[in-house]
Amino acid sequence: MAVIVLRIGHRPQRDLRVTTHVGLAARAFGADGMLLTSRDRNVKESIEKVTRSWGGRFTIEDGVNLKETVRRWKEDGGKIVHLTMYGINLPDALPEIKLEEDLMIIVGAGKVPPYIYRVADWNVAVGNQPHSEVAALAVFLDRFKREGGIDPLTREYPHAKRIIPQVHGKRVINWDAQV
Ligand code: SAM
Repeated sequence: MAVIVLRIGHRPQRDLRVTTHVGLAARAFGADGMLLTSRDRNVKESIEKVTRSWGGRFTIEDGVNLKETVRRWKEDGGKIVHLTMYGINLPDALPEIKLEEDLMIIVGAGKVPPYIYRVADWNVAVGNQPHSEVAALAVFLDRFKREGGIDPLTREYPHAKRIIPQVHGKRVINWDAQV
């Protein structure tokens, strides 16, 4: 079962920081990769740099064609969740979303085209209040993964830098010091 985030409507420069955070949250909360409909080497390189240091197999592809990507995903049997404050609230939608199916999670930036609302199998709200794509994605992934018995907050990555949690201060061990 693959979980992929599709970030649409990214405006290079204006959305650089938020889209990078979408990717970092996707990786940290257990998604397998992110697709970006715009081209942005800066986003791609920042996330790849984090993955090289902190581990995992998170993939990132920019410049994908929206309709083509969605069409192929559905043809291959994958399901689509679109995160929107107008959707069915997450606690009500979650029981219907099957853990064993490939899942694409779409998050917007500015105004989201009506096509996305139609093509989604579920339009899901993380609470019916406006907030942020980063917050919505993190909460969705946390609840979704925990439904499948995985707690994203305790995940460990082999062959990577590792933090030793501290009450005060910082302690980080590099991979080569762990072997
Ligand atoms: N005005 C935009 C629209 O028409 O949907 C919303 C823009 S909002 C700043 C950016 C993204 O954050 C949305 O596309 C959605 O993916 C996500 N988002 C914001 N609030 C949300 C909520 N309560 N539940 C789910 N997703 C949310």
